[in-house]
Amino acid sequence: MNEDVIAIAGRVQRGETTAVAVAEHALGRIDAMNGELNAFLTVAREEVLEQARAIDAKRARGEALGPLAGVPIALKDALCTRGVRTTCGSKILEHWVPPYDATVVTKLRQADALLPGKTNMDEFAMGSSNESSAFGPVKNPRDLARAPGGSSGGSAVAVAAGMTPAALGSDTGGSIRQPASFTGTVGVKPTYGRVSRFGLVAFASSLDQIGPFATDVRGAARVLSVIAGKDERDMTCLAAPADDFEGACGASVKGLRIGVPEEYFAKGLDPEVEASVRAAIARLEADGCIVKKVHLAHTRHAVATYYVLATAEASSNLARFDGVRYGLRVEPDRRAAGSGVGAAPTKSALRAMYGATRDAGFGAEVKRRILLGTFVLSAGYYDAYYLKAQKVRTLIRRDFDAAFGEVDAIVCPTAPTPAFLLGEKTSDPLSMYLSDVYTLPASLAGLPAISVPCAPTAAGLPVGLQIIAPALREATMFTLASAWEGSTRS
Ligand code: GLN
Repeated sequence: MNEDVIAIAGRVQRGETTAVAVAEHALGRIDAMNGELNAFLTVAREEVLEQARAIDAKRARGEALGPLAGVPIALKDALCTRGVRTTCGSKILEHWVPPYDATVVTKLRQADALLPGKTNMDEFAMGSSNESSAFGPVKNPRDLARAPGGSSGGSAVAVAAGMTPAALGSDTGGSIRQPASFTGTVGVKPTYGRVSRFGLVAFASSLDQIGPFATDVRGAARVLSVIAGKDERDMTCLAAPADDFEGACGASVKGLRIGVPEEYFAKGLDPEVEASVRAAIARLEADGCIVKKVHLAHTRHAVATYYVLATAEASSNLARFDGVRYGLRVEPDRRAAGSGVGAAPTKSALRAMYGATRDAGFGAEVKRRILLGTFVLSAGYYDAYYLKAQKVRTLIRRDFDAAFGEVDAIVCPTAPTPAFLLGEKTSDPLSMYLSDVYTLPASLAGLPAISVPCAPTAAGLPVGLQIIAPALREATMFTLASAWEGSTRS
């Protein structure tokens, strides 16, 4: 009985099943599979059953239920949940329990969703394989030796393994789309500003966006319509009214112009991924789309640009984890810090405490990024790296502006390869960073993009088709994605 979002909400709204039955089913799946997959870091058993009972009681009183009535939605552990620990995949927040909910969590609760727990992720969302989590990697249910992608790997796997029909992740440079591609699920990164970031632990604030995973396109559209919209508590959140995302699914694609960027079909692209993506494009053409070649000339600079800007922002955002305000505190050896036992804390003792806490609390990848980011922001290097990267970001955005003068959407692979093996890239950070090459440009340009499964490889590994739309045109993206999904089912 692993149904999709729309089916579950409908059955709970009509009283054909209860929210408690759905919650128990999800908990049963999680209990049976999580030992092997490591997708959930925290299972909120009591909390989700309580939510379910409240939803059933609401229905019994004759009140109308919300659009996600009784739908279990897993939450990436970067999203603050009141009373439920939020680790962000890091030792430094291992025991941190937020005093408030992220805005998206509040909105899910108001829509009568069920929130069964928090999912594993790369530490502070830095990674593409889930291997930088302080709590062990997540395994890909399609092949347990392979990575699920990252950084929202736990959320992708919760959906891929049928533990929950939908989940939320966050995407800074591909962290929703790439794991969706690796696990055969649908993943959406909305336009920057479409969804409030209030209560999302910040990584790179000019890029971070929250978005849904789901088993199908329509389910993802419904979840996005619930979490989208203005929020006074996030000044970057846009006032734009949410379109009818669900209504856009199933609309005709006839006459839609889709652009195929030459730069995305270059060296490094796995031939089976290319064949699968090209077959999907041919099918959209057969369904009435007009296919055009487009150029995104600065694509090759996206990886370098992103890893300068994202690390710079991260080094600043992560300064708050100092052993004073949040989570872990490690007291250094007092003598080494220069003050005797019992002496009043000195400035150097405070500095030593910061250092000991951050050294013990952060993993290797997070430390690498803080060092890189601090370097590119430092006097003497700021102009050469940070400022230069900002300028290249503008060029990348202009490439898209020009392309969208000719086409309604861009279609391309989500990732250059199918899921790679766990351990395959951990000793070579650069090769790990290169796996983000097709997701980073849309992030840098703030554009909405979706990954939707296309034909798997001969070995049965999932492949993702990425559809990128102009800012705030998620509706176009949903129309194309649902047309493609429909053609794979007919
Ligand atoms: N893989 C990219 C990184 O490591 C993107 C991560 C993300 O989107 N959070 O930074």
